Amino acid sequence: MILEATGSLKHVDRPLRLAEVPVPVPRSDELLVEVAACGVCHTELDEIEGRLQPARLPIILGHEVIGRVAQCGSDVSNFQLGNRVGVGWIHQSNGTCQENLAPEFVATGCDVDGGYAEYMTVPAGYAVPIPDDLKDAEAAPLMCAGAIGYRALRLCELTDGQPLGLMGFGGSAHLVLQLAKHIYPNSPVFVFTRDSSIQHFARDLGADWSGAIDAQPPEKVRSIIDTTPAWWPVVQSLRKIKPGGRLVINAIRKEDNDKEALQDLSYHEHLWMEREIKSVANLTFRDIAEFIPLAAIIPIRPEVTTYPLEQANEALQDLRQGTVKGAKVLMIESKAR
Ligand SMILES: [Zn+2]
Repeated sequence: MILEATGSLKHVDRPLRLAEVPVPVPRSDELLVEVAACGVCHTELDEIEGRLQPARLPIILGHEVIGRVAQCGSDVSNFQLGNRVGVGWIHQSNGTCQENLAPEFVATGCDVDGGYAEYMTVPAGYAVPIPDDLKDAEAAPLMCAGAIGYRALRLCELTDGQPLGLMGFGGSAHLVLQLAKHIYPNSPVFVFTRDSSIQHFARDLGADWSGAIDAQPPEKVRSIIDTTPAWWPVVQSLRKIKPGGRLVINAIRKEDNDKEALQDLSYHEHLWMEREIKSVANLTFRDIAEFIPLAAIIPIRPEVTTYPLEQANEALQDLRQGTVKGAKVLMIESKAR
């Protein structure tokens, strides 16, 4: 499925088009991956609508990729044909501990073609082995939503027992809830989301409390992770944080529709007392390589709705409307299989 032009999804119902393209040829340090599943991420909406401009058009989106090694470049020694691998948002960078912030950062499905396809290539050093007990569809959302959730949770700097808030409860947050319950078993987790059925879903998954975006939780939180695309939840999040606490914004772009909500930001009420706001940018390969085995052990199994690749447009619209719960995953039926 290829994206040929950016534009608002209010006006363009089907932004992606099914097309035949040549199978990419791996360089000497790369793998050719036969894609089995690819998660649908909110970042794709940002790319389609142009808030995050793809490096070129047309481009193949998708950065939550699970597949099997179909060909190894001549210099590759860490993988063999048939190995199951995952590819996340980080396609390649400079290998330092801050590689997520480096100018060398290359984003899968944005700077180079991604996984809404039968095949893609990736440098062998940026493919992660997938444990056998994770199914393709379950593993896909872990590659971005899960791994960046892991990074966001680390940036919360919680200690066990301190309360955590989750603002918004989509693909990433519902994985963070399970992760937080494992790493910080004594920390209560409070979920804020507009939809009452999703509030119930959060409690079913182990949230200690859930409520509306502007509701006050049973106690103020040490940290809160905001995964919404809007500004009003940022202001609302800051009202729920203890002195010295931190708001971690896990969103690559914010939409401008409700920017006027920032007029309600009160320095005294929302920021004073050393409250902090920190964004989460990209991922390091280490985030993915640490998180995937942890997810298999915990175990974290995302709630998944699957779609055939040809229905990528429907999956994107469902994601945009926010009514289908859990993570959305495209399943790719290869002609070769
Ligand atoms: Zn993503």
